Amino acid sequence: MKYKIGDIVTLKKGHPCGENKWEILRTGVDIKLKCLGCEKIVWLSRIDFDKRIRKIKDRNGKFISIVHYHPEEE
Ligand SMILES: [Zn+2]
Repeated sequence: MKYKIGDIVTLKKGHPCGENKWEILRTGVDIKLKCLGCEKIVWLSRIDFDKRIRKIKDRNGKFISIVHYHPEEE
């Protein structure tokens, strides 16, 4: 699994509150996310999440494209 609890990600579309940073609270068949703008909790199916995720915050605090993110190789 590429993602873990506590990871910060951006999605294809931001939240209506204007923020587009989400913290992963739970992984599995469904992904539980918290908007870092308004703290609203949303659930996405794993399939939906994989379609919508764009970037992830790496260990250096930089947002990098998910296609370039390979934490298991670092
Ligand atoms: Zn929000």
